[in-house]
Amino acid sequence: MGSSDEKLYYLRPMRVMVSVKFHAFWEAIMQKITVILMIMVGMVLSSPISHAEEKAKPKKQAVEKNITLIHAGTLLAVPGQDTLTEQTIVIDGARIKEVHAGYVTGADLLLPYARIIDLKDKFVLPGLMDVHVHLTMGEDGGDGPDDSALAGVINAKKTLMAGYTTVRDVGSMGDVIFKLRKKINKGDIDGPRIFAAGQIIGVGALDGGLECNGVESCRRTTRSLIAKGADWIKIYSSCSGSKLCSNKDGAPVFFDDEITAVTEVAKKYGVKVAAHSHPRDSALFVLKYGVSSIEHGSFMNDKALKAMKKQGVYFVPTVGVHDMLEKLKREGKVKGRVLAHNDTFMKIHPETIKNAYSKGVKIATGSDAGVVPHGKNYREIERLVDLGITPSDALKMATVNGADLLDQSSDLGTVEAGKYADIIALSANPLQDIDNIEKVIFVMKNGRIYKD
Ligand SMILES: [Zn+2]
Repeated sequence: MGSSDEKLYYLRPMRVMVSVKFHAFWEAIMQKITVILMIMVGMVLSSPISHAEEKAKPKKQAVEKNITLIHAGTLLAVPGQDTLTEQTIVIDGARIKEVHAGYVTGADLLLPYARIIDLKDKFVLPGLMDVHVHLTMGEDGGDGPDDSALAGVINAKKTLMAGYTTVRDVGSMGDVIFKLRKKINKGDIDGPRIFAAGQIIGVGALDGGLECNGVESCRRTTRSLIAKGADWIKIYSSCSGSKLCSNKDGAPVFFDDEITAVTEVAKKYGVKVAAHSHPRDSALFVLKYGVSSIEHGSFMNDKALKAMKKQGVYFVPTVGVHDMLEKLKREGKVKGRVLAHNDTFMKIHPETIKNAYSKGVKIATGSDAGVVPHGKNYREIERLVDLGITPSDALKMATVNGADLLDQSSDLGTVEAGKYADIIALSANPLQDIDNIEKVIFVMKNGRIYKD
């Protein structure tokens, strides 16, 4: 022990001395090299070419960092068509840049900074669309405008989290829907893209809608909605479904000159009209005046369906409301004439939908969320499949057809180059079991991830 301590005592200073000398030698060399390098770098930086390179470099990196690659195990790029396997979706900012076969990496595309999202064991499809919602109404709606505004914020998020990246809001409380749309577009509130009708126009202000009572009144109300920012006009062309006057023999509630006033003003501003209609004849009546969609359409006959097909008018059946009516019946909350009315509706409405499907009438999915719970918009797709519509067609109705109805086919509805990156993923295949549409594990809207 003692001898080894002695050795260490003498050896240590020697080693330090050697080390100091060695270090000083290299330090001198390095200083010289550094000076030479600084002169060289200074010369290079002062040349005009190097300035351009210096500016280009950070810009290139920023663009690459904005690029996302999704590796999709199964991709339903265009609902209604076949699925693809092992695809790479390249997203640049808010839009889809391209879709490659196989799993491509950032290095393959010379984009080393690209972010990769692994959805190799998932089912990937375009964001869903619900073309009949009331975001500011429903269980959180309350009574006043403040409650409606808060409900809109809550329901917008629920809707987006359910995989719905686009909605058409066909009836809001007050004008708050326009403000909600603006805040969502700015990215301040999480929610779907909103195409908003604002408040509903009702004849003589029936059912709480805005007044349309004679030509001047109908024109004024329609112009006022468009001035506030309405993307659509929604009219009550029959009584509300909860009222007995919405029965199959119910009369159209507009006069010809009133509905003409509404549709002509809308046409002048390039705004389409959606018509709420239950009775047999009210759909036929409004179809004469150039509406673009019939909502509910409960008692439409062959004549109305043929006219719709000929004119390319969409049917938005909102069959999901049967969930609510079945529940009311189960709980014994409706009785007498109202129960009989509901029973007739529940018997005939599904037959009307099947008839429309077999005739090739264009159908888009609308849940009527606000009347039924928000965030369960997928019930519409499930109920359509229950009626015999194929899962493939039902998914097309909830994407491609929705985009067509909204005149957004060049931007939305499919996962294709040039479209907005509205993309969702499910943990299981909805074509095999439509209930898998509920298993949303990933939501991207405008290239931004909201659920992962
Ligand atoms: Zn509705």
